Amino acid sequence: CGIIGCVGHDDETLDVVLDGLETLEYRGYDSAGVALAGDEIDVEKKEGRLEALREEIATHEVDPSGEIGIGHTRWSTHGPPTDENAHPHTDESGRVAVVHNGIIENYQSLRDELESEGVTFTSETDTEVVPHLFAANLETDLDAEAAFRRTLDRIDGSYAIAAVVAGDDRIFATRNDSPLVLGVGEDRYYLASDVPAFLEHTRDVVYLDDGEVAIIDAEGWAVTNRDGEPVEKDVSTVTWSA
Ligand code: GLU
Repeated sequence: CGIIGCVGHDDETLDVVLDGLETLEYRGYDSAGVALAGDEIDVEKKEGRLEALREEIATHEVDPSGEIGIGHTRWSTHGPPTDENAHPHTDESGRVAVVHNGIIENYQSLRDELESEGVTFTSETDTEVVPHLFAANLETDLDAEAAFRRTLDRIDGSYAIAAVVAGDDRIFATRNDSPLVLGVGEDRYYLASDVPAFLEHTRDVVYLDDGEVAIIDAEGWAVTNRDGEPVEKDVSTVTWSA
């Protein structure tokens, strides 16, 4: 299982995300998916090998100009490997897309709460509570970053999460007891479970710690703690090859 996110200035994001997922294959997975974000979010996901996802994507028009992308390989813990349970997961309006590795321990009570408010779930995963909570918070928070933080306040468990919002040019990410690293490229920024996912593009890496929130866009990156205070992070240069 693994996640990747990438923001750049060109039309290579889909390829960068798919190739990055390939390097994370060693972590094991039963399904894979990607979301490309622009004014709308295009989600492609499929049970099975990455090849099945590539074949699915090849059958129809996917806007290749999307500059913001997230991807996921799933090792299912909640819900069997199916297309519906594959990540990314979205809210009902499709405004938010989320990839997650790990387990949301309190998902059942959050799901009960959301369902009692009328939210319809489309998967059996623990993960799906996250996009629904994020979308609900976007209704009350003007800023997506604040809404993302408010979402994290509600979830317990182990997770690496990356999320995109339609019409927003950032990727929001965080980790708790699950690996997540940030890659600093020339004019492209990355998030991934492991360095090899973007090593082809950059050797400059920021190792994130539990509880930190990383935000990347096409202009740069920032790391803060849960409360939104900036955290000074070193950029390390990886000297090894994958
Ligand atoms: N618990 C989530 C699921 O079952 C994520 C699993 C993973 O880490 O890939 O969908």
